[in-house]
Amino acid sequence: MTKKILIFIATYNENQNISDLFYSIIKISPDYDVLIIDDNSTDGTKEILEKLNSAHTCLTVIHRPKKMGVGSAHNAAMIYALKNEYEELVTMDGDFSHSPNTIPLMLDQLKTSDFVIGSRYMKGGKSDYTGYRKWISLVANHVARIILGIKIHECTTSFRGFRVALFNSLNLSAIKSNGYSFFLECVNEINCINVEIAEVPIHFKDRFHGESKIPKTEIFRSMYKLSKLFLSRFYKKQTYLINPAEIKSSCYLCNSQCIVEVSHGNKNNDNYEAEAYRCTSLEHKSKPQVFNCLICDLSFVPESSYPKDIETIYSEVQDLTYLENKKSRKKTFQESLVQISPYLPDKGHLLEVGSYCGFFLESFQKKYPSWDYIGVEPSKWASEYARSQLKINTRTGTLEDNIKELASDYDAVVSWDVLEHLKDPLAFLTQINSIMKQNGVFCFSTLDVDNWFPKLTGKRWPWLMDMHLFYFNSNTTEQFLNRAGFKIIRAERYVHYISIPYLAEKINAILPYGLGSPFYLIRKVLPQHLLVPFSFGDIKLYICVKEY
Ligand SMILES: [Zn+2]
Repeated sequence: MTKKILIFIATYNENQNISDLFYSIIKISPDYDVLIIDDNSTDGTKEILEKLNSAHTCLTVIHRPKKMGVGSAHNAAMIYALKNEYEELVTMDGDFSHSPNTIPLMLDQLKTSDFVIGSRYMKGGKSDYTGYRKWISLVANHVARIILGIKIHECTTSFRGFRVALFNSLNLSAIKSNGYSFFLECVNEINCINVEIAEVPIHFKDRFHGESKIPKTEIFRSMYKLSKLFLSRFYKKQTYLINPAEIKSSCYLCNSQCIVEVSHGNKNNDNYEAEAYRCTSLEHKSKPQVFNCLICDLSFVPESSYPKDIETIYSEVQDLTYLENKKSRKKTFQESLVQISPYLPDKGHLLEVGSYCGFFLESFQKKYPSWDYIGVEPSKWASEYARSQLKINTRTGTLEDNIKELASDYDAVVSWDVLEHLKDPLAFLTQINSIMKQNGVFCFSTLDVDNWFPKLTGKRWPWLMDMHLFYFNSNTTEQFLNRAGFKIIRAERYVHYISIPYLAEKINAILPYGLGSPFYLIRKVLPQHLLVPFSFGDIKLYICVKEY
């Protein structure tokens, strides 16, 4: 039986090369399967790939929704090869700088090695780079070889062959670089595990068509990466991230199995009480397990790691801290109303999903007395508060529980900080769409993890918490909305107003080892009723219209 062999190419704007490259690969052997991952090319590459895809069963094309990086594409291809039970994988550039004729040589080398790299700097190798690019590449490889203790002469080219079984011991969740530094980091990781490494000489040709995709800043990024890898030799940090080989889940949104673990989580599974699911919960010490899909970029908590009866938990929630902070909540909602007002007609029918104690609807009613409105809220305690204390028309339960009793012609639906809590956000959005008028307005707020604040704070990011099951960014939010029949017309920062005592408590809960104590002191001297706007841009407000 012939071996299952996969050849992989990552593309971004390769309309002049990709077709010829594909044909020259399959000409070498009819046994090769080819995988191409395209990062939303804008020069017609996508259309060329679709044509090739429909004509050749050996080809699989994966389109990603945005430029997610060449490193992340290679990582995805390695996981793809593993999950689809290939035995050998060869990866190469999409611009003919790597000759397809070297592929059989690489596969031959894999008979005795686990990993082989196409080398420009070993005996017999050659590079067409000239001038500063030649010197940078030469010096970088030499330095990397010495300081990382790598036995081969080349560690940056993407022309590589792998025995796929290697990925069972090479933890692809632990390789964090998405760009070109991925290639160096990957070789370093392979070098650290005890496997056979080899190199074959290649003649690296400068691209004939199109422009080089390597950004100038990549030099600095690689230098930074190299020094980090060097330092990690002395204090090798244990990674607790799960190897993708052990991940059984597939992506909630695109169903791909190319998934890495980005947060291992630290919770003890018995802490699933309604207490932790309060709106004002300070349970920041407990962190969830989070996966990231390398194909659509969605970050999500796997089904296996949150409680099955999450609806019951939300129905039991009681939150007196929320009421203590009602001034700040009201101020927050008044500001959201200012943001969405230009998009609302003078009169209509509004639904709020997740209306909690009714403070938004109370503000809404004052500003828009001629509108009809209704709220839906799972917490028995909060919905009862809205009905009895504020006389706000509120139904208890989830949207799904109440869908039959609700009207089907809403002019506007709002839902603040709800989407990231749901088990099935796509079903939720589709359901909202189904009860709205054509061109009705849907306004909501949710997380945006592609923001500097979560990137800077990492595991200490305050919204990385058990009750958040989805960690959207603006692109994945848009994918969800488009699938549910909505079009985004505006996206901006969502501003929360919070009181000084509440801010002090939050900071104290986030910072380690009592570092938050000074904030407790500051809190004593500041006026308690002072409300401060709080927004790093990691929570966004979206205004959308129902398109179909
Ligand atoms: Zn996905």
